[in-house]
Amino acid sequence: MPTETFEFQVEARQLLQLMIHSVYSNKDVFLRELVSNASDALDKLRLAALRDDTLDADTSDLHVEIEIDQDARTLTVRDNGIGMSYDEVGRLIGTIANSGTAAFLEELKEAQDAAGAEKLIGQFGVGFYSGFMVADEMTLVTRRAGESSGTRWTSRGEGTYTLESADDAPQGTAVTLHLKPADPENQLHDYTSVWTVKEIVKRYSDFITWPIRLVPGAGDGEGTSDPETLNSMKALWARARDEVSDDEYHELYKHVSHDWRDPLETIRLQAEGTFEYQALLFLPAHAPHDLFTRDFRRGLQLYVKRVLIMDDCEALLPPYLRFVKGVVDAHDLSLNVSREILQQDRHIRLIQRRLTKKVLSSVKEMKANDADKYGTFWREFGPVLKEGLLGDPDNRDALLAVASFASTHAPDEATTLQQYVERMKDGQDDIYYMTGESRQSIENSPHMEAFRARGVEVLLLTDPVDEVWVDAVGEVEGKRLRSVAKGEIDLDVRDGEEADGEREKQAEAYAGLLGWMKEQLGEDVKDVRLSTRLTVSPACVVSDSHDLTPALENMYRAMGQDVPTAKRILELNPGHLLVQGLNQAYKDREDHAELVETAVLLHGLALLAEGGQPTEPARFVKLVAERLERTL
Ligand code: ADP
Repeated sequence: MPTETFEFQVEARQLLQLMIHSVYSNKDVFLRELVSNASDALDKLRLAALRDDTLDADTSDLHVEIEIDQDARTLTVRDNGIGMSYDEVGRLIGTIANSGTAAFLEELKEAQDAAGAEKLIGQFGVGFYSGFMVADEMTLVTRRAGESSGTRWTSRGEGTYTLESADDAPQGTAVTLHLKPADPENQLHDYTSVWTVKEIVKRYSDFITWPIRLVPGAGDGEGTSDPETLNSMKALWARARDEVSDDEYHELYKHVSHDWRDPLETIRLQAEGTFEYQALLFLPAHAPHDLFTRDFRRGLQLYVKRVLIMDDCEALLPPYLRFVKGVVDAHDLSLNVSREILQQDRHIRLIQRRLTKKVLSSVKEMKANDADKYGTFWREFGPVLKEGLLGDPDNRDALLAVASFASTHAPDEATTLQQYVERMKDGQDDIYYMTGESRQSIENSPHMEAFRARGVEVLLLTDPVDEVWVDAVGEVEGKRLRSVAKGEIDLDVRDGEEADGEREKQAEAYAGLLGWMKEQLGEDVKDVRLSTRLTVSPACVVSDSHDLTPALENMYRAMGQDVPTAKRILELNPGHLLVQGLNQAYKDREDHAELVETAVLLHGLALLAEGGQPTEPARFVKLVAERLERTL
């Protein structure tokens, strides 16, 4: 096959430019990335060989090799792992498929300055391409295990790469960097120095479970003759707790998560007895961009006695903990257990239960001891964790104990449900909440008026999942969770009899108007009644206690379910001049057409006030314009 030249995908080109003119100060990490890819390739080969015993591959001495050639100024990272086919090289190396990287580029466009770009690289990482921070040319020679011919890929990182076949390629992948000229000011980062390379491997890749060998190369300066293994290969979870530094845990996190940032929390767990296992879990510091997408890759790495047997093992944690990264090493599982069997396995279910409890108790501790850390955690992952309130009744109390919510109690301080209950007013029986798109839209909604006037606290719930879990949970500590926008609300704290008397009088005075309006608005409303929740606005619409809210209806429709639109109730504020005037006009039997218009306008205003739309926007606008005209 002749050499062919290809253009990088646009996104890849942008990234490469960034690498070549690198703004990222910690260039050493390119080696961590290449070793991490090599280690993954060895894991993949072993798994493939385990699944398919007809695979024609050599798995006898799986390892990573690093070779330095000082004369040629090259550094090669070689593995004898799974390798890539010709097509795979084009697909995996020529393009950026990773959705996180796409998001990264989006943000990069906005961060014009170097400091912004550096911060972003630190967040996302760019894997293989990071080689171009230190190299002016990269060559990758690879042969997929089981295939007979290999592929050579080369690029100077400037827009194009070439592909050709390489018949003599050994199994696995070798990446050779032709290093940029050494910086005389910065000897520490000369990657042709054996000492430098050893330090970097020790620092970032010590825990890699495959041997990483430094092989003697032409002019490597030290005249080494035998390959030297640079890493201890000790699994961190198998080492004594006090022997492992935070930095070492963090490097393992970066390897398993492909995140370039440190984790927020490291959790260790050890189970002894009949079914022995160790777990090392990490809570990331940032929610990934694709956390709520269908193809988010969740799961922990599952090992059996130090041997990786599954990469994204979903069965180890419930879906609402899908952001947790880490490793579980179980001692008594079969090496070739399948995903399907794992889902059913009793021991795996026990591990899942135990890990879930451990994660939740760690969050609880974090909440008690480190408010900032907990704040970060809840901001990033609260919306996912709350899914557990629906799906995992067994841990509902533990979840509620670590949950916190925005509230009218304080503008930028979250509250727990327990704190809310402690602050409840005398005579208040329920926990009030309102759902909506943002704190601001909720606070401006007419439904909040009486609560504000009477100083009754309301939880402000703005995550999509909030619409659902409140119904599923129903009550907390014996207090009902009640939406301020649903059903009838009675906040009247005055002496019962006096209030009742006044209400009766009002009901009598408005009975005619309410019945008539209901008739006029017809299909648009379920009922028209007097409101106890308004102090300033003339009217609002509310949902009946057991009906779906409009937001929920939309959610179900977005999921493809066919739900009818629930009619809503129009509430009028008898304390408002407009409503009083309308009642008088009704009683005086003023012009009928005019009265109907006012009813329609009032209904439209109520819908607008909660962020909705009048039933017939064009008619509404026309009526308002006509009335305004008359005031001129
Ligand atoms: P990431 O490792 O984050 O997926 P990279 O850009 O580093 O991103 O690599 C892209 C893909 O190329 C990898 O996911 C893997 O499929 C493939 N790849 C990279 N290095 C190797 C290697 N040494 N052996 C086999 N495949 C590799």
